Amino acid sequence: MLHKSGECMKRVALLSLLTVITGCLSGILFYSFIEKNTSDNNLQDLNVDAQIAFNANSHYISDDNSNDSYDDDTSFDFNVNSAIDAAVIMSSSTESLYASDDSMTPATENTNEDNSSFSQIKSGNKIGTDKLTGQKILYLTFDDGPSKLTPKILDILDKYNAKATFFVTGFATDCSKYIKEAHDRGHTIGMHTYTHDYSNVYKSTEAYYKDLNKISKLCEKELGFTPQYIRFPGGSSNTVSSNYCDGIMTYLSKDVLKKGYQYYDWNCANGDAVGGEQSAEKLYKNAIESIGGTDLVMLCHDSGDKQSTVDSLPKIIEYYQAHGYELKAIDDTSYVPHHCINN
Ligand SMILES: [Zn+2]
Repeated sequence: MLHKSGECMKRVALLSLLTVITGCLSGILFYSFIEKNTSDNNLQDLNVDAQIAFNANSHYISDDNSNDSYDDDTSFDFNVNSAIDAAVIMSSSTESLYASDDSMTPATENTNEDNSSFSQIKSGNKIGTDKLTGQKILYLTFDDGPSKLTPKILDILDKYNAKATFFVTGFATDCSKYIKEAHDRGHTIGMHTYTHDYSNVYKSTEAYYKDLNKISKLCEKELGFTPQYIRFPGGSSNTVSSNYCDGIMTYLSKDVLKKGYQYYDWNCANGDAVGGEQSAEKLYKNAIESIGGTDLVMLCHDSGDKQSTVDSLPKIIEYYQAHGYELKAIDDTSYVPHHCINN
């Protein structure tokens, strides 16, 4: 009996030992499965982000070839740039990478504190379209102001219920108040640089952004926000910048998009920047040459010495309105003309 009882105890002990070992093995296997599954998911997440970033970069790199078709004979050959899409993809991929880590917040979200010498603009939104809408729209754009003539231009625009866009500078400090006035009267404000001094703004990319930051601060002071719309002095196709910095337009034309701006060139002009002061009649003739086109972005100037621009404006507006055109201010849905880059 004792023998049998001892044998029985041995079997019970052996069974218990087997149960414990089986339990441990199951635990280890289960833990390994969970750990492997989790790390696979993490790996998958990283791969997705890496793939997004890679695709964005590939897309962006492919845009480097988009300006190769430049034709020297076509000064207004506005090669519309698919970099707009690339900029959006770059922004989205950045957001998705940041989203996995709360400690990393994109600088553009710090809107409550003035913690940077750089003005913050919202980014990630696609600004404008590279597709012609086919609509009879005339976007009058006035560079180089505000000036003493700005109030006259604003009155003419009001008279015809026309809206326009002002790419402003900052050097006429006594006229800065017109930035707000133009905005309050329904026009769009874009930035053209503060000094408009080619030898300064195109000296280096740092010099360009330093100047852009200065006009940003002025706009913030006048308007309470920094415009996202910009126009390069001389347009993106300018060659004058090559006197100061090789390749700067190639770099800036892509980099401003990555920073959340959109830049606007033009696809027609009144010619008021060509060859000294021209008669109002000549400017009118230049301006109406583009009749028949759609999504017209017209280059004009709001300089204090361009009275003929003001004088020609009523007839230009009347002509386009009589032909069924709507005169609008640039907004986030407008067509975006981009020139070919020459430096
Ligand atoms: Zn200008």
